[in-house]
Amino acid sequence: MFPKYVPWIAPAFALALTVACSSTPTPDGTGTGGAVGSGGAAPGSGGAAVSGGAPGVGGAGTGGASTGGAGVTGGGPGSGGAGTGGGSPSGGASSGGAPSTGGSGSGGGGAVGPGPSDLPPAPVEPNLPKPGGTPGDITVLDWAGFPAAVTYSFDDNDGSQLNYYDEMHAIGGRYTYYLVSDWGMSDAGWHTIFDDGNEIGNHTTNHSCGATQIGNAKTAIQGEFGKTPTTVAAPNGDDACQSAAQPHAFINREVGPANPVTPLSNTNPFAMNCYIPATGQAAGTYNGNIDQALNQGGWVIYVIHGINPGTTHTFQPVSWDGLQGAIQYSKDNDVWIDTMENVGAYWMGQKVFADAMSETAGDSTTWTWVLPANFPTGKYLRVTVDGGTLTQGGTALTWDPHGYYEIALDDLSVTLAP
Ligand SMILES: [Zn+2]
Repeated sequence: MFPKYVPWIAPAFALALTVACSSTPTPDGTGTGGAVGSGGAAPGSGGAAVSGGAPGVGGAGTGGASTGGAGVTGGGPGSGGAGTGGGSPSGGASSGGAPSTGGSGSGGGGAVGPGPSDLPPAPVEPNLPKPGGTPGDITVLDWAGFPAAVTYSFDDNDGSQLNYYDEMHAIGGRYTYYLVSDWGMSDAGWHTIFDDGNEIGNHTTNHSCGATQIGNAKTAIQGEFGKTPTTVAAPNGDDACQSAAQPHAFINREVGPANPVTPLSNTNPFAMNCYIPATGQAAGTYNGNIDQALNQGGWVIYVIHGINPGTTHTFQPVSWDGLQGAIQYSKDNDVWIDTMENVGAYWMGQKVFADAMSETAGDSTTWTWVLPANFPTGKYLRVTVDGGTLTQGGTALTWDPHGYYEIALDDLSVTLAP
């Protein structure tokens, strides 16, 4: 059997809270109570139950919006120990310690996010029931359950890109910055961008194609940021990068054609499509691209150089008004705004899974696949089934009420059984 994919079904918008808390009951029974929780950055399942300690100083906690989050039991009498339950239907609940002089632990709630991946939650209400029918095929959701995807990539280390980052980050989404490694990467702004989960991509050492320029830039970016870049943008769209990038990346962005990339398409991953906005382009023109992506269920990729006011880049600088309007329009239409690496890994992972070998033994079926060279680690696909239990590495996967299971591409296999 081979998996198939289906068009995304229009969902309602949903927003998932991602907060967690923790506690530290002390072993001697004089607990100090839980600390105030803060949102975790990593995805995960909920935390284990925590029993409050003996009298101490209570803590306040906020339950997580995760799928896990075992209940937390407040300890003995305490002065604090307030807790707030989780925000999702299966989120963790916590109960505070009883008021008194002592304290108790709070906590629980678990880490962030409904699933193991760091993909944003699909824009649907998280109330979809786990499929209970007869096991059959596995169906991969296009674009992680979003109706379309968009990547805004920014080239050439232009300072204006830093000026507008905070406002872009506030709208939401993640972005790709293709840095030329010899042109300076130490500005704290690039590090903030990286630390927020955006992508620092490879635009060669000196803005020219060649395996050496790409390989040395990969090393330099890894040294500066601590993560190996997995995608390349070809300077000036030079076709020489198509082969030069292959030892060092799984995707190479060109500067055209200006068309959406569609799921399971045979687009050359080393010559990825790209739109280049015109100088000062109005939001409405970008929005037309997004409408095209929504109509086709596709992925729009942009390359932008400078942003006005404030750019020093002379090549087709865009206006912040136009760009801001475009990003907001994407957000308002539930388009997945993410990096070349994240969306590219999903697009390619779906193709990889479509080519997976399946083998049936008794009433279980196992799919196995092979990842391309330089494919990033820690990537997932969102899938659904008619029924049955999915396992990877002997562990049953957890149904996400946004309407999917998340399968780890790193595991290279998944099994479906009753
Ligand atoms: Zn460039």
